[in-house]
Amino acid sequence: METKEKLSNVEIVENITKRLEESIDELIESNDWKKYLSFVKGQHPYSWNNTFLIMFEGILRGWEKPATYVRGAKQWEKVGRTIKKGEKAIWILAPRIQFVCNEKGCSGFNQRTLWNKFSRVNTCKIDARHRIEKKMLGFMSVPVFDIQQTEGEPITDFVPLKDEVQGATDKLWDDLTELAEKYGFKVIVGNALGTDGFCTHEKKEIVIDENAEFGYRVKTLIHEMAHMILHADINDYQLNRARYETEAEGVAYVVAEALGIHSESDAYSFGYIATWGKDDTKKLVKESLGRIQKCANEIIGQIEAGFEI
Ligand SMILES: [Zn+2]
Ligand SMILES: [Zn+2]
Repeated sequence: METKEKLSNVEIVENITKRLEESIDELIESNDWKKYLSFVKGQHPYSWNNTFLIMFEGILRGWEKPATYVRGAKQWEKVGRTIKKGEKAIWILAPRIQFVCNEKGCSGFNQRTLWNKFSRVNTCKIDARHRIEKKMLGFMSVPVFDIQQTEGEPITDFVPLKDEVQGATDKLWDDLTELAEKYGFKVIVGNALGTDGFCTHEKKEIVIDENAEFGYRVKTLIHEMAHMILHADINDYQLNRARYETEAEGVAYVVAEALGIHSESDAYSFGYIATWGKDDTKKLVKESLGRIQKCANEIIGQIEAGFEI
């Protein structure tokens, strides 16, 4: 593993921001945002700007295969893999988090908490029942390596979602409708008034076209759930329709990919977005990526958590 280069954090952030901006332009110009979105699905622990950095680092280094799974050297060790000789780390920004007591009036207020090994929770030094909060202190640069820079034990359990769900299954449909219910929405398969589906915040309903093929219904459901999560309090839908549709279809694409639903409709997603965005597609996509990833993570995270029950 290489040692840290002598750059201050401010310089690193500056460099990264610049590269990020350039990378997005390059990405959208080369029509590669599909590649970006497929990459995002395996990376939800990282922020979307780090995701870009990791992907473009691979391109800069001339890797044939894009980066797929990045982890720190120690995390690789834990799964029986080591960093190949001569491989250089990819530096990303990770948030520095501290747990503090947040109980008003406590003398330990805003002070670091104790980690309890047995209960596996952070507790206040004064009183274990106090409210504990996560505080973000800033960012630090952290070295990570892509799986192709490592060797050792084969990795088989890195894509649990994909292995568990092959294509659009009844279980996935049930999980998604259940998740919609958690947000207070009812999913109805029926007459979608000539559309593939729609979401109404007024009636708290998502209606999916009963005539559509099953896999397509699942993808439409994800699209409508993105509207459900992201577009609750908008009142300018007609004005900014392209932006909202870009976001919803971006989420549908990322989530479907992550859950192992692959279809001809990938091309459909991009056509759909470009149709709405027209000349503004590049700008729209750029502005939407952060929200797309956040919402996709929200859905995937909850579905994933549900699988453990
Ligand atoms: Zn306390
Ligand atoms: Zn829509």
